[in-house]
Amino acid sequence: MKTIHKSYKYRIYPSETQAVLLAKHFGSCRFVFNRFLHTRKEQYAKDKTSLNYYDNAAALTELKKTADFEWLKEVNSQCLQASLKNLDTAYKHFFKQQNRFPHFKSKYDRQSFKVPQNVSLVGDKLVLPKFREGIKAKVHREMEGKILFATVLKSTTGKYYVSLTCEVAHSPHAKTGKSVGVDTGIKELAILSDGSSYENIKSLKTKLKRLKYVQRQLSKKQKGSAARHRQKRKLGVLHEKISNSRKDYLHKVSSEIVKNHDIISIEDLAVKNILKNHCLSQAMSDVSLGAFYAMLEYKAAWHERDFVKIDRFFPSSKSCSVCGWVKEDLTLSIRKWECAACGAHHERDVNAAKNILQEGIKILSGCGTQSDKKQKRDEALSLGKSATPEAHKSLAYG
Ligand SMILES: [Zn+2]
Repeated sequence: MKTIHKSYKYRIYPSETQAVLLAKHFGSCRFVFNRFLHTRKEQYAKDKTSLNYYDNAAALTELKKTADFEWLKEVNSQCLQASLKNLDTAYKHFFKQQNRFPHFKSKYDRQSFKVPQNVSLVGDKLVLPKFREGIKAKVHREMEGKILFATVLKSTTGKYYVSLTCEVAHSPHAKTGKSVGVDTGIKELAILSDGSSYENIKSLKTKLKRLKYVQRQLSKKQKGSAARHRQKRKLGVLHEKISNSRKDYLHKVSSEIVKNHDIISIEDLAVKNILKNHCLSQAMSDVSLGAFYAMLEYKAAWHERDFVKIDRFFPSSKSCSVCGWVKEDLTLSIRKWECAACGAHHERDVNAAKNILQEGIKILSGCGTQSDKKQKRDEALSLGKSATPEAHKSLAYG
């Protein structure tokens, strides 16, 4: 039996006293993060040397001994150390070029702190160090496994949540003998090579309209006014709703695809992205697609499925999935076409998904055209640069 990590997010309802202590935790962890980010920057500016986690942790211990910073003792010290580790990780990711430079945390953003140890869920109570009496939690789905750590969150709309990361014993789905290519789009979230499809979240369109409206109203309100504050809260609530319903849907679809197939092949998003236009709905769909790809990938790993990401541009829409002939003049408006070489009839997106599957199987068997990352990026960039707007458009849906 193998184990996997799973997260469970629950809404929590602290009492007034607990809310005060939570606020101290949020504030102290943010303070520690910001202060040592500042120290690290200063040190580097001074003599180009770097401080690491251990330097920071030692300095924090000293700091807590001084009268001015005694208040740091009121909170769980492990949370403060976790905040330093978090800063250290942010630096490491930056140096590995995985992330931008760490920035100062603001009290106006979403608040969070990590509790690395001694977390339990007893009935409908979340028990943490300094909160031994437990914080009321709404456990809407049963948690499995052993809790590794917790992250306590407060949204900009003032709601509290806890995210519990657990180690869970896990048995993979049975083999199905089926493979699938997945194409993604704006109108449909996913089009499968077997001809079925999942449309994008139905309610999203109306919600986006409402979002635009609320945003416009916000821009009309006077800065610093109570009305503006109220409007901002409204906007936050709406964002939260959209993001929750989107996430639920992505989970449902990704679980289903992984459950029903042994091989899942998909085009890398980075390559798709370089080649397409940008607008609001596009940007929103990018966020979803990124999350969707990530879900497919980790769920495939959980269930020992083969997951292939085709990380290089290839004309998935333009090629005939039966004979390989390439229809060069395929524009975006053409949804159905006939192959001039073999006469096959194609639904545009299903044909693309079929090609994605074939390419994925080639890669798995070791004779695909997957390139190394740098070459892929250079190619994609040069494609993006040299193309005229028209060519760009047709390439985008290539
Ligand atoms: Zn053909």
